[in-house]
Amino acid sequence: MTQTYEPVIGLEIHAELLTNSKMFCSCSADYGSAPEPNTLICPVCTGLPGALPVVNKKAVELAALVGLALNCSINPHNTFARKNYYYPDLPKGYQISQYELPIASNGYLDIPGDTENPQRVTVRRVHIEEDTAKLTHEKNHALVDFNRAGVPLLEIVSEPDMRNVEAALSYATRIRAILRYLEVNSGDMEKGVLRFEANISVRPSGSSELRTRTEIKNLNSFRALTRASAYEIERQIKVYEAGGEVVQETLGWDEARGVTVSQRGKEDAHDYRYFPEPDLPPLQLEPAWIASIKSLLPELPDAKTRRFMEQYELKRQEAILLTSEKPLADYFEAVVSKSRSSPKTIHSWIAGEFMRYMNDSELALENIDLPAEKFAQLIDMVTDKTVSGNSGKIVLNEMLKNGGVPQEIVKAKNLAQVSDTGFIQEAIEKILSDNPGEVEQYLAGKETIVQWLMGQVARSTKGKADPNVAKELLVKTMEKRRK
Ligand code: ADP
Ligand code: MG
Ligand code: ZN
Repeated sequence: MTQTYEPVIGLEIHAELLTNSKMFCSCSADYGSAPEPNTLICPVCTGLPGALPVVNKKAVELAALVGLALNCSINPHNTFARKNYYYPDLPKGYQISQYELPIASNGYLDIPGDTENPQRVTVRRVHIEEDTAKLTHEKNHALVDFNRAGVPLLEIVSEPDMRNVEAALSYATRIRAILRYLEVNSGDMEKGVLRFEANISVRPSGSSELRTRTEIKNLNSFRALTRASAYEIERQIKVYEAGGEVVQETLGWDEARGVTVSQRGKEDAHDYRYFPEPDLPPLQLEPAWIASIKSLLPELPDAKTRRFMEQYELKRQEAILLTSEKPLADYFEAVVSKSRSSPKTIHSWIAGEFMRYMNDSELALENIDLPAEKFAQLIDMVTDKTVSGNSGKIVLNEMLKNGGVPQEIVKAKNLAQVSDTGFIQEAIEKILSDNPGEVEQYLAGKETIVQWLMGQVARSTKGKADPNVAKELLVKTMEKRRK
């Protein structure tokens, strides 16, 4: 019998916080807009001797907000710690982080799925730290830019609760959505503001042991997370199959070659010589303060999904799609509120033609200029049969590309649907006399030929004939020839 294996995955997610200033000094944290390297720096974030850190209040608020959104307890007493290691991107020779007492711990996130019973991933902790400087490796040297050094960074650590790559991907996707809902992080992974580390082990199916894991660092896209995890699972299985042992180590992901590569043996916590940060007092968070942060929580994707299912009678997957981004959910609700058509119909328009345009044009929702009211008017014109579904799509694409008012576009493009029977009847007579063979087939019992003839009607009327009226007339006209 061949042995099967079960993957065990835990994720560590690093997210920069969208504050104006850095974590422990007043330098701007907006390093992406800096005109030059090493311009947003001061003695604190470049680690000059004697410089003293001061905690960024806004960063603490945002960290607590994330902790609460992930169902964590906020630790009213939490402390900063020094994580000691040397690397050229770390000017102090240590990173200020949180170790024994993080700001938030013991939460969970339900991964959305098809069923009523989503899979729950335990969030072990959420802690505050500072980002490092940015290194650029040239041929024979490296360049260092301290603009990023000291930018507030959140680390969100899960328990090893995920059992396949899809689960890890949905967890990561949901975390990103929540950070964006909370407006604490832009989610721009290509800019490096959100980075994943996947901890992976495999064990014989049915076993509950936790085997030696490897850690893949700095995964900067969902694609990298997916491919690297899948690769590493297979690699470890091969090691066990060959009778070997997996070595605990830190790996990098080589995107071009599609392989994980060893960077260093994984250090244990004691290698960092963590100790309490002597330059910063513990954070004392009052219950009233925690409550006030909690009151700022918006309706999050899960709750919104459930509400959309109930209020708009949508299927789970439909509601999940619409609530994946808050602006999209808001847009859907704005269209619904201005339209006479059913929310189901509006979902189809958004999930179909509208999102296809977004994908094809690679535009984000905020760069699309179609007022909800005009979209609603167009959908209602289709619902009322003023225009056909296909013509509606043409009008929508025109509005998305060049703006305009649906009624005027319909007029200009001569797209109004006709249910005037005289006009349709005329077209039908012509088609039937041009295609006597098809009429005979119909009369001989081949009813599917009606679809083909309807296609001819749509073509000769340029899609303007109301299909229901046309079909009725078509069948009636052919039936008359029976006698
Ligand atoms: P460290 O603090 O040394 O990095 P932790 O035990 O805190 O190690 O775990 C770090 C991450 O590794 C967590 O996300 C955790 O879920 C994950 N992890 C721990 N053990 C395993 C394992 N055996 N297999 C897969 N992931 C694991
Ligand atoms: Mg780690
Ligand atoms: Zn500074």
